[in-house]
Amino acid sequence: MQSPSLGTGFYGSYGGRYVSETLIHALDELTEAASCIAATPAFQKELSDLLATYVGRPTPLTDAARLARAIDPERKTLGRLFLKREDLCHTGAHKINNALGQILLATKMRKSRIIAETGAGQHGVATATACALFGLPCEIYMGEEDVARQAPNVGRMRLLGAKVIPVTSGSRTLKDAMNEALRDWVTNVSTTHYCIGSAAGPHPYPELVARFQSVIGEEARAQILERTGHLPDAVIACVGGGSNAIGIFRGFISSPSVKLYGVEAAGHGVPSGKHAATLGAGRVGVLHGSKSYVLCDDGGQIQEAHSISAGLDYPGVGPEHAFLKDSGRAKYLAATDDEALAAASLVTRTEGILPALETSHPFAKIGVVATEVSKSLDRPATLILCLSGRGDKDLETLLRRLL
Ligand SMILES: *Cc1c(COP(=O)(O)O)cnc(C)c1O
Repeated sequence: MQSPSLGTGFYGSYGGRYVSETLIHALDELTEAASCIAATPAFQKELSDLLATYVGRPTPLTDAARLARAIDPERKTLGRLFLKREDLCHTGAHKINNALGQILLATKMRKSRIIAETGAGQHGVATATACALFGLPCEIYMGEEDVARQAPNVGRMRLLGAKVIPVTSGSRTLKDAMNEALRDWVTNVSTTHYCIGSAAGPHPYPELVARFQSVIGEEARAQILERTGHLPDAVIACVGGGSNAIGIFRGFISSPSVKLYGVEAAGHGVPSGKHAATLGAGRVGVLHGSKSYVLCDDGGQIQEAHSISAGLDYPGVGPEHAFLKDSGRAKYLAATDDEALAAASLVTRTEGILPALETSHPFAKIGVVATEVSKSLDRPATLILCLSGRGDKDLETLLRRLL
């Protein structure tokens, strides 16, 4: 965490608190706790000890030389490629950084019950893990459709002692689970902390989550400087709600020489309408309490997102990314399901690392980014990719589609 103040909750005209009045007090209380408790040296020390001894931080920065040569054999555009290894975090992805931070904060706020929403189950597993560690009861809202599709993660959450509540409203997926969780929070706000899983939702969540994930960028910046003596030319990450991307971006955003690239899911291709490219093809709207880009129809109804990777399958995106897109500080690309699958196969065979399908999307765009960045430099580019998670959870899809 940097400055104690959590800011205004606005990134340009994006963000804010588009929620019912009953939630304002809870959001104020959380904002207050985040600035008065989470920013203290004592809290920071407790959290960084947990990140070191429980999560396994700092995660390594891996030099992916064989993959770089496979992508650009002549070394004209891609000089070096480094991977920030969030796949090596306990539970296999970056989500635990935020879940642990929020649950630790909730214990300081004397909350006795935790709720969360989950789509694929990754954030549900991370939250259930943190709750097991602190001995707190945990209830996870999950669309009925996702409960059926993501059976192994449902089992994991139950083993961890969490109660999984199937949501039967709407399309019975992530957005409906988040609506139900917000509804629960309104009713039980005095005892309950709502642990949101990405850099989205009403203020202060986008800022709180970005700060808990900024450990990724802080480590990566120190590691690349130590290894190469220079900042990278570009940083690239996948964007679902946007938390791993904003986490790594925060380490480099104040250095204009470092270009920032987010990669969304183009699903079957943006023209097909079956995609999750919210920044690339969405419009400005309000979803889950904040103003950002959303996927919606002409009448303003939120549309279903589609992606082969469950973690990118969200029709909204965190408000800071909307601001970074409009201001031009970051660029957003999209990779299709097929491009992501091909990239997963290439990474696994060249580096011996099985990436999550989410992370396979930025892997698919390394060549494009290296070409664009090296053109303005007149030399091959050095890139860092945020390897947000491991692909074991996607084994069934990978086997079905690749073998
Ligand atoms: C959930 C998830 C994502 C997408 O979430 P962000 O908030 O956009 O980071 C990306 N990668 C993995 C491995 C995930 O589990």
